[in-house]
Amino acid sequence: MRSQGLVVAIDGPSGAGKSTAGRTLAERLGYTYIDTGAMYRALALKAMRAGVSLDSEEALATLCRASQIELTDGGRRVILDGEDVTTGIRSPETSRASSLVSVHPGVRTEMVARQREMGREGHVVLDGRDIGTAVFPDAEVKFFLDATPTERAQRRLGELRAAGSDITLEEVEEDVRERDYTDTHRAESPLVSAWDALELDTTRLSPEEVLERMLAAVRARQGQPLDLGRLAEEHRRSPRRYLEALRSLALSVGLYRLPAGSEDEQRPHGEEEVYLVLEGRGRFRMGDEDVSVVPGHLLTVPPRVEHHFHSIEEDLLLLVFFAPAEGSTEAKTAE
Ligand code: C5P
Repeated sequence: MRSQGLVVAIDGPSGAGKSTAGRTLAERLGYTYIDTGAMYRALALKAMRAGVSLDSEEALATLCRASQIELTDGGRRVILDGEDVTTGIRSPETSRASSLVSVHPGVRTEMVARQREMGREGHVVLDGRDIGTAVFPDAEVKFFLDATPTERAQRRLGELRAAGSDITLEEVEEDVRERDYTDTHRAESPLVSAWDALELDTTRLSPEEVLERMLAAVRARQGQPLDLGRLAEEHRRSPRRYLEALRSLALSVGLYRLPAGSEDEQRPHGEEEVYLVLEGRGRFRMGDEDVSVVPGHLLTVPPRVEHHFHSIEEDLLLLVFFAPAEGSTEAKTAE
């Protein structure tokens, strides 16, 4: 049982914005940020330097057990056996090698044990590929960040260029493609979204918008029971203030996705619910009202009122705030 705070898990492919989001989220929460990819990268660097074959599970697992890997300065610096390797582990060769060393179960067992130890007390944000599925399947808040391959390659290119590299976009795209393939096809803990993760497509979101959404979800998880009806009454004239209040207080928040052309089968809820439309277009019927739905709309549904989304023209992505009693997973994740 964790006494100190939550474990926040962030998974997703490379370039999805995990490390920026993870670091800033940890800063805002006063949590420790753990970049688990940096650990695999450090081991890969050590293996390459020592001439250890990246195919040799046994040798890599031994090397891993004999390595001291520290993440310091809020996750900004990586120290391998006392040496600062922060820059060295970001090279394209190390990226590729890290993906190869991480396929081996013997390596993963050791890394996962270390990561569990680091997060044992909570108060941590971990970013990686298997945090919500293997390292902390019981993490209180899980995110799965993704973006289009082109956007992810562009972001990586920006990072590498900023670090002085003259790598081309084509080379970065190739690296991203290769690593995506290795990470999603390996037998041990392949990259998949945990069933209970909030999925965020960051393609068209600024880092601030990503952070804002993640903070909303974490705060919701930290919150206390509240009277949604009273809160709605207090903020009836200001949806924005209402949303702020919900963000800081609501107990549960989820993402609800409705593909274009699909049918939404809502049933009336015992408690009030609030939807914030993140993406898409369609219509929303509630009682006798029928309104158009566009990004930014806040839809408040009083208890026991019939409501549903319909005429969905573009995939709808909704952030839903709901009372804990309504938090059944089936209701929230239905596609
Ligand atoms: O996140 P980053 O790109 O730094 O990770 C480097 C590599 O380490 C990934 O491509 C992946 O193969 C591996 N990794 C992993 N499990 C994690 C974190 C990273 O397998 N939890």
